[in-house]
Amino acid sequence: MVRNKIAVLEKSTIDKIAAGEVVERPSSVVKELVENAIDAGASAITVEIKDGGKSYIRITDNGCGIPEDELSVAFMRHSTSKLRDASELADIHTLGFRGEALSSISAVSRVEMITKPADTLMGVRYVIEGSKEVSLDKIGAPDGTTIMVYQLFFNTPARKKFLKTDTTEASYISELMERLALSHPDISFCFISNKKEKIHTSGNGNLMDTIYQIYGRQIASNLLAVEKETDLLKVSGFIGNSNVARGNRSLENFYINGRYIKSPLLSKSVEEGYVGYLMQHQYPFCVLMITTKEASVDVNVHPTKQEVRFDDEMAIADIFKSLIFERLYQREDIAEVTLDE
Ligand code: ADP
Ligand code: MG
Repeated sequence: MVRNKIAVLEKSTIDKIAAGEVVERPSSVVKELVENAIDAGASAITVEIKDGGKSYIRITDNGCGIPEDELSVAFMRHSTSKLRDASELADIHTLGFRGEALSSISAVSRVEMITKPADTLMGVRYVIEGSKEVSLDKIGAPDGTTIMVYQLFFNTPARKKFLKTDTTEASYISELMERLALSHPDISFCFISNKKEKIHTSGNGNLMDTIYQIYGRQIASNLLAVEKETDLLKVSGFIGNSNVARGNRSLENFYINGRYIKSPLLSKSVEEGYVGYLMQHQYPFCVLMITTKEASVDVNVHPTKQEVRFDDEMAIADIFKSLIFERLYQREDIAEVTLDE
């Protein structure tokens, strides 16, 4: 074996490797950028893509914008306005905090950002390509931020080759947009793919209206409201009856503190609550908003933050199973019986 001398990698190489963890495909870019728009306090977010997001992604928000003197720092690795030190990790109220998205995305594409905080007169236009700054100019712009991502993975051919067809990549983004819109009924979301509007929510703050705007009448009219509070967490949302069950888990939606998560534990517990109610190999519809108390959950398990770790898995499983079971078998036509009479 030939052994090379040990050397620290060049910055551009480190950036590309790091980008690989956060940016797997066009939908990961959309996820990170929409989360930034949500964190920026936007009340309206528009996402437009072409060719499944491979050639073009544009995200427009009316949030707080970035001041000119912070703009190039925002695109550096581990730069964030959302976290100051590790002690704050246990109690995070923003979707982002790792300071990796803008640097990762700009390492593997050409990015153009136009941004203007409400208290400045002029906006700024910043262009960066493959981690190299191209330009920064003053420009007239509305309050908020527009970010455009062109030619994703132009400099990482292996990643590019592994992408699926435009239609499949667009469907991943569409599904993601549904989940993001559901997580924030108070924000108006618009999703446009190849010039066609696919999703439009009103942002009126009502979860049922948002479900209706995303999934349509058939689903919205077959739901039961659920609500429960324990000393570990609070849950609220809607669960589907048997008319809206599916052959896969695509309609199971879990949110923890406003963040969409995948959780085999929650899926399994909810499905157990449905045992005897749904046929085998049928999966329920649910939109469950979970608010945890104190530090009962760790979101910093994975760079995409879609996985979480619960302190007390058994207790969590119990809460969800019984929440579903009790709601499904709660007969509204039978008056409550008081046992000690
Ligand atoms: P993180 O979201 O983890 O902080 P990012 O790389 O996604 O890291 O963003 C870096 C910083 O840039 C953010 O902390 C935020 O201050 C700023 N920023 C990014 N996108 C927006 C946006 N759409 N509106 C306002 N500020 C933004
Ligand atoms: Mg971010």
